[in-house]
Amino acid sequence: MKPKQKIAKQLEIDVRELCQPSGRRVGEEGHQVAEQWVEKRLKEIGCIPYRENSFSLPYEVDETRFKNFAGVIAGRDRSLPPVLIGAHYDSVIDAPCADDNGASVAISLAVGLAIAEQGGLERDLIVAIFDAEEPPFFQSEAMGSIRFYEDQIDERGIHFAVISDLVGHDVSFPSHLTRRIPAANLITAPFAPLTFMTGAESHSDLPALLNELKSPKGIKLIATLNDYVGDMSDHGIFRKNNVPYVFLSCGRWEHYHQPTDTPDRLNYNKMAAITEYFIDVCRAVSAAAFAEGLSSGDSVEFEKQTWKKAFGLMRKPLAKILGVSDFDSRANIDRAVAKLVSLGL
Ligand SMILES: [Zn+2]
Repeated sequence: MKPKQKIAKQLEIDVRELCQPSGRRVGEEGHQVAEQWVEKRLKEIGCIPYRENSFSLPYEVDETRFKNFAGVIAGRDRSLPPVLIGAHYDSVIDAPCADDNGASVAISLAVGLAIAEQGGLERDLIVAIFDAEEPPFFQSEAMGSIRFYEDQIDERGIHFAVISDLVGHDVSFPSHLTRRIPAANLITAPFAPLTFMTGAESHSDLPALLNELKSPKGIKLIATLNDYVGDMSDHGIFRKNNVPYVFLSCGRWEHYHQPTDTPDRLNYNKMAAITEYFIDVCRAVSAAAFAEGLSSGDSVEFEKQTWKKAFGLMRKPLAKILGVSDFDSRANIDRAVAKLVSLGL
């Protein structure tokens, strides 16, 4: 079996195990089942606990109990600030919530496993599985990634954060929008592998570094500014604290926060491609210095390149669909992203 197929297979096993019909809502029994599963998998992929003897990092807010999890794939110099890859494991409703966010949990574990098999990075890699990202905890003091950053990280701090959410699905458009368009599937097909990235602007060294990485077969990366979409997930607390980061998402789809967000609807090959990309990101950022005080860079040239590479010959016609002549300036990328967001992404 090819490495990518092997990754895809394990991703599917992990999503199906984690994403049970009972869901993983805070305080529910399904959440406890998920806690045990996360702990078991961190150990299996070769992590050691990030803090003391346990992967679990409990905290309490307003008499509600929560649990983050963090394991470490040990690096060559353990005194350096670690790279973190993370995703939330709680669910918004009592349902599988596979794309949101079982997919990213599985990807984070797969990246950890691959890095372990390669003998680790220059520095530690933290695999962080956060609690309480979903409403009513989203952006509150109970949000897992916020409690992790403010109370649970050690004195080394965080070198770089790699976060993802909603990365298990093909980009598609709501059927009420495409119903009346002849051959709509031909027009929308080039959008399916799209994967959106924000954070290239989070350090001035980052656009050049990311530009060196190739985007694996199966995804088409589109970089844009976090400002357009806001802090949609767990990367927000890192951004606010000037930690360089990348955030990947395939946006919302018709099964977003629905009982129909089930493991059978995910694209495990696309997820395997994202896993490969993240492995490269982790290696590259681990080796980079990221001097302090350069925490915002101009990423427009890099962004333009990603739109160009993603769409190839289809670029101009697709630009037209999104209401611009080309993806060749900050203003046009602004308008194209606004159009994509208005289409429900
Ligand atoms: Zn969600």
